[in-house]
Amino acid sequence: MNVIMTYVPTIGLEVHAELKTKSKMFCGCKNDPHNTAPNTHTCPVCLAHPGTLPVPNEQAIEMVLLFGQAVSATVATYSEFDRKNYFYPDIPKAYQISQYAFPFLSGGNLKGVALTRVHLEEDTARSQHDKGEGSLVDFNRAGVPLMELVTEPVIHDAKTAGDFARELQLLLRTLGISDANMERGEMRVEANISVSKNPEQFGTKVEVKNLNSFRSVEAAIEFEIARQIELLEQGGVVSQETRGWDENNNRTFTQRSKETAKDYRYFPDPDIPKIDTSKHEAFAAHRLAEKMPKLPENKRLEYKNLGLTSEQIEVILNQSEIDSYFASVVQLPLCTSDVVRLVANYLTSDVLSLTQGNDLKLEALNPAHFLELMIMLSEGKINSRIAKDLLPELFIATDGPLALASARGLLQVSDTAAIQKIIDEIISEQVTVVAEYKAGKEASLQYLIGQAMKKTMGTANPAVLKELLIQSLK
Ligand SMILES: [Zn+2]
Repeated sequence: MNVIMTYVPTIGLEVHAELKTKSKMFCGCKNDPHNTAPNTHTCPVCLAHPGTLPVPNEQAIEMVLLFGQAVSATVATYSEFDRKNYFYPDIPKAYQISQYAFPFLSGGNLKGVALTRVHLEEDTARSQHDKGEGSLVDFNRAGVPLMELVTEPVIHDAKTAGDFARELQLLLRTLGISDANMERGEMRVEANISVSKNPEQFGTKVEVKNLNSFRSVEAAIEFEIARQIELLEQGGVVSQETRGWDENNNRTFTQRSKETAKDYRYFPDPDIPKIDTSKHEAFAAHRLAEKMPKLPENKRLEYKNLGLTSEQIEVILNQSEIDSYFASVVQLPLCTSDVVRLVANYLTSDVLSLTQGNDLKLEALNPAHFLELMIMLSEGKINSRIAKDLLPELFIATDGPLALASARGLLQVSDTAAIQKIIDEIISEQVTVVAEYKAGKEASLQYLIGQAMKKTMGTANPAVLKELLIQSLK
């Protein structure tokens, strides 16, 4: 009997995302924790000087509510901020302002995963333990708005958890509320994992932290499921604890026993008024709806209807620059349904590699010129070899591709008289190869086609050329 099959893993995710507000959560300091010298964006409020008072950031609340509308969450009319008490060098007040009993959002759904809640809190400062003697603390990050999302424990495998995290990153970026770069800690995933033989009852859960890539999320969940099952099979017990992820050795390790909510002595922050979001015009549902961009799930459907493959769709959606470029080409009147697939095809392959690997910037590629090139290709005015050659030039040239191609005689020739003239020349020049072909050497035909193509500088319609050549050799 396969013991693995008798256990059901259950996974819930907690994700923190740094919001891209102009200023910090409770003070006017610039929200820029990653790009400047340490401790340059600080003030008495975020350094917790006595007598200072926090003022909630309206833009941060608006971003959370916009997210809520995108995932169909329920917006609380009554919400409050609480103090989560603990002592650590990166938390100058010795408490973090967070939300406990009354978060802004509850419920909702993303990629088929039910959400429990979404709340707003402040980030901690950043400790650095590897810069010389002792530890250093950078307070640029102290007080940066953090959105925390908690899912229901409804995920049962690593892949689903990874896909959820990817979709969340895409949504945060689409909404423009977080850059959600995991390597930079702008999006941090924690996974609560348990296994149980009894589908009615959860096993003891273990929380795994420090997951800073999608690969780590999936690998850590797989490791932890296997570790817990093995432990239970050997007669051991899973202890409720927080574990870290060791990326180099692909394993989780004990960090500390898990605190419970009681340990934090949560209580409502007396310095911040309670918030009824329905009383603020900026938070009204219709105002948020006006700011709502087209969401990934809607774009997927739209692109599918345009005939794009699912691989093309995911590449376009996850490259915001390509996505907006694609939109600007598709809205051109000449972009018919025939040519749109070709546009997607070239954008997700040739254009993408040109802009990623070179100094070429997508904004330098005039959408009308790019579309013209695709139309020339679909109408057979040029072949794909010439299209690929002309494409990088379009980033630099002021002329359109039709002007470029005709000036250089690169337009595909389907005119049989013109092609026949070239073939006659080739046949008289390549006497030996022609004789070999007539003697039955098939490969010689390919050589002759190549020679003729060369003479036309690659402009001849290959099908027409081949047919005429075979005729002429008879
Ligand atoms: Zn400040």
